[in-house]
Amino acid sequence: MMKEIDELVKDINLAEEVMELSGENPYDCYQCGTCSASCPFIEEMDLKPDEVIRYVVLNRKEVLKSKTIWICASCFECAERCPRDINITKLMEALRQIILRKNVDYTEIEKIGEEEKRTIPQIAFVSLFRKNVG
Ligand code: SF4
Ligand code: SF4
Repeated sequence: MMKEIDELVKDINLAEEVMELSGENPYDCYQCGTCSASCPFIEEMDLKPDEVIRYVVLNRKEVLKSKTIWICASCFECAERCPRDINITKLMEALRQIILRKNVDYTEIEKIGEEEKRTIPQIAFVSLFRKNVG
């Protein structure tokens, strides 16, 4: 499955895709870390929100395999505090869209490990499944 997503996205430019889907410009980010400091789910994430943006700018496709983009609960805390006025919430959504539009689904309950089920907050699951069916 991972190889498959690598293959599917190998020709895209992440920053351009994200800009097209979200209208947000990841190049505006100056890596201050405020988004990560404001995120209530940071402990559950494997990449911090500011790292997600950095990966997008660098076109590092492994960001699409990150748990972070699915754990993001679309709470807008980061977006409200970003000094560069980047809506990180929309940017995360754009990354999920890139995957979903390729018909690669990482959000089925049976694919989530037991350890993750124990540690990921309930609200993150609710948000994830809402996004998945919405
Ligand atoms: S708060 Fe805004 S400028 Fe700062 S790291 Fe996050 S996205 Fe970049
Ligand atoms: S919108 Fe997502 S990344 Fe931003 S603070 Fe909320 S959970 Fe964290």
